[in-house]
Amino acid sequence: MTSTTASHAADLVAALLFILSLAGLSQHRTSRAGVAYGIAGMALALVATIVVAAQSISAGAVALIVLAMALGAAIGLWRARRVEMTQMPELIAVLHSFVGLAAVLVGWNSYLEVESHGSAQTRIGADLLGIHHAEVFIGIFIGAVTFTGSIVAFLKLSGRTNSRPLMLPGKNGLNLGALAAFVALTVWFTAGPNLPLMVAVTVLALALGWHLVASIGGGDMPVVVSMLNSYSGWAAAAAGFLLNNNLLIVTGALVGSSGAYLSYIMCKAMNRSFLSVIAGGFGIEAPKGGEEEQGEHREIRAVEAAELLEQARSVIITPGYGMAVAQAQHPVAELTRRLRERGVEVRFGVHPVAGRLPGHMNVLLAEAKVPYDIVLEMDEINDDFAETSVVLVIGANDTVNPAAMDDPSSPIAGMPVLRVWEAEQVIVFKRSMASGYAGVQNPLFFRENSSMLFGDAEQSVSDILRALDADGRREPAPSARQATVAG
Ligand code: NDP
Repeated sequence: MTSTTASHAADLVAALLFILSLAGLSQHRTSRAGVAYGIAGMALALVATIVVAAQSISAGAVALIVLAMALGAAIGLWRARRVEMTQMPELIAVLHSFVGLAAVLVGWNSYLEVESHGSAQTRIGADLLGIHHAEVFIGIFIGAVTFTGSIVAFLKLSGRTNSRPLMLPGKNGLNLGALAAFVALTVWFTAGPNLPLMVAVTVLALALGWHLVASIGGGDMPVVVSMLNSYSGWAAAAAGFLLNNNLLIVTGALVGSSGAYLSYIMCKAMNRSFLSVIAGGFGIEAPKGGEEEQGEHREIRAVEAAELLEQARSVIITPGYGMAVAQAQHPVAELTRRLRERGVEVRFGVHPVAGRLPGHMNVLLAEAKVPYDIVLEMDEINDDFAETSVVLVIGANDTVNPAAMDDPSSPIAGMPVLRVWEAEQVIVFKRSMASGYAGVQNPLFFRENSSMLFGDAEQSVSDILRALDADGRREPAPSARQATVAG
């Protein structure tokens, strides 16, 4: 077998491993295997690429590649060990920006190579030169949009900038104009490539990426994250064409299409128009409504909450981003166990965009060993709130906001939410009256049947556990109680 055949075989096996990885990652039970397939595929792809490259470049260049990989791996391991679960989405956004930047650099490199060596030495036939120019332009465009879009997403997700949408006058016109200018520049460049056009498309795409993501409001950020994931895939595929690397094309297409599908699913879950979100909030008007308070709220202490829970028949816990911040999943799991031992029916209601990344709450609850069968999706549990004694809203806010249903002028209007307010009692665990990620106040906090339990969620749930313990000690043992009744 020649080394080229071996490398094609390795590419094929790696591509199959990536497909198995995606299939594995789609379910809890198979997700670990999915990660393992992904690692194996990537390791194989890296080895095959280096082996092939080693035949046409000097030993010094191979050493440089290995050095760069070792450095990258060391930084990756260091960051992956230190990153908090709550910082995961921002980390993902930064990683997407690297893919975008890489695609821009590959595009520029490919252009400069052809310019300095001519098409003959770069093995591009004269008849294919036009296609090559178009590839360069498209690769740079997608890469640069991904690069700045991901940086804005990182700034918004990490709270370094406001998550409210930027509403420049005529923003839809700006986006459409930028797309039209890109098409015109591509035609011009294909006919007569030159450096000023390269600079123009790079600047145009950098500005468009920044504007597209800056125009999208807090509530729609989940879709943006998966959309940038998709763009990063297409950017990688474009780089694959320029580098003549089939595996990069296949892998980029897999990431691009699965990211696009995830964006579509999330748009459906949030009742948003897919096209409107990917077009930078196309057609969405400037939101009204702010963070001002809307009436009186009631407070409850942990001891009183424990009493309510002791008397409850059924409890639903709706976790949100605050549970992740407080790392409250372990005491929440313990509270679940204790209440179930007392015969209380306890279930979880998980909103599709609770937390800061798809499946965030499911991962935390699985980590704390909450049984899968009591963790239900929003659609599975939403009709049951009306028959529920107590709902514990643990660090959730936007995902339980009734304004999404009642107030058409709200920035999150139309987004399906968990109808927690239909229960007999609602206890909201948070530290203050501050708004959630979308930056809108929550009328739930001012409802008759709602009480606020202020404080860090981990601390508040632990206080409830202690109060239950104290009550348990005060309560006579079952046999003593029977004796008292009999006496
Ligand atoms: P929100 O972000 O709406 O609210 C979280 C609440 O948790 C805050 O109001 C905060 O209030 C509270 N909180 C924070 N820290 C603590 C703590 N230590 N203890 C107790 N409470 C705490 O959360 P949701 O999960 O309801 O909604 C998710 C939001 O994030 C949605 O708007 C969604 O669109 C967006 N989003 C989701 C992504 C995803 O993929 N899932 C990705 C990007 C954005 P206080 O400060 O008063 O404590």
